[in-house]
Amino acid sequence: MYTYDTNNIFAKILRGEIPSQFIYETEHSVAFRDINPQAPEHVLVIPRGPYVNYDHFADAASADEIVDFTRAVAAVSRQMGVSPDAGQGYRLIANSGQHSHQEVPHLHVHILAGRPLGPMLTRV
Ligand code: AMP
Repeated sequence: MYTYDTNNIFAKILRGEIPSQFIYETEHSVAFRDINPQAPEHVLVIPRGPYVNYDHFADAASADEIVDFTRAVAAVSRQMGVSPDAGQGYRLIANSGQHSHQEVPHLHVHILAGRPLGPMLTRV
């Protein structure tokens, strides 16, 4: 069971209560720059719908929303100039749940790019 917190920061951005500049938007998805970039290029893509995480989205979103969001991520990477065919590639991260260190409980995909990103994780 997923409980969506309508006061999370991305919900506020979507409602226009917190300023943010969308660099890309479609009927079901928007993209904006991460406020605390972890790479030279760091953009977040989020669905407009109220989904807590990837699993919630996969279970509850409509096919239109899922197609729109999936294509939005690739379109934003092309717009950023980092798609693997035209640029030098990127990493996608979608933190989901407690162990992932998800901080904002509204589904978001991080697009990280702009330098070699190294191995995926440091083993501890
Ligand atoms: P996560 O840890 O996967 O939940 O990532 C949340 C991300 O949201 C972090 O990288 C934050 O820097 C980013 N973030 C938080 N507030 C804002 C904001 N107002 N505008 C853009 N990015 C934000």
